[in-house]
Amino acid sequence: MNKTSSNVIWHGATVQREHRERLNGHRSAILWFTGLSGAGKSTLAHAVEQRLHACAVRTYVLDGDNVRHGLCGDLGFSAADRSENIRRVGELAKLFVDAGVIVLTAFISPFRTDRDLVRSWVAPEDFLEIHCRCSVEVCEARDVKGLYKMARAGSVKDFTGISSPYEEPLAAELIVNTGELNVEQCVEMVLNLLRERGILRSI
Ligand code: ADP
Repeated sequence: MNKTSSNVIWHGATVQREHRERLNGHRSAILWFTGLSGAGKSTLAHAVEQRLHACAVRTYVLDGDNVRHGLCGDLGFSAADRSENIRRVGELAKLFVDAGVIVLTAFISPFRTDRDLVRSWVAPEDFLEIHCRCSVEVCEARDVKGLYKMARAGSVKDFTGISSPYEEPLAAELIVNTGELNVEQCVEMVLNLLRERGILRSI
């Protein structure tokens, strides 16, 4: 669902994205990390943010668990609720792009149509999908939050990779094998992508 309330008129800003980007000295974009629970989305997003922040780049991480404390606290993990979760986060991420910020989102975002919908809301160069590729076996062995154990026991329902599907990206801008590489190697791959795409160029 993507509706507009009635009787509302968009108020154009005088200070626009290009002005903010010029002030910041870099472009804004969405770095959309997707992958199984425990694949390393949060770890990688925060590690990339730390490197960028140290270089005076404006960033913000939207983390799956954190938004479910507030903005999406009313949602569960059914397919419909997962889609609504991603829709809200996508709208939020779009605002960050307008604000001139590099926003890094760490959500399982298991459904291709949900990710593609967010992609369709921004210019092609503004959405970089980063697939944290890691086998269920490795994620389960890590079991960072103990959720795989609970899912196997049946106490967590609709768990991605166990009892709910994960649809791998078909054309991600970057695939990082988080099951095989270390965090620093993955961070370098993401930073290289940003350099290649001109996101970090001085403007
Ligand atoms: P997710 O956000 O995808 O659920 P987390 O970032 O919470 O995953 O957990 C991933 C775990 O895997 C962390 O304990 C992290 O230290 C570990 N890990 C090992 N290698 C990597 C890697 N290359 N990238 C990211 N995390 C990794």
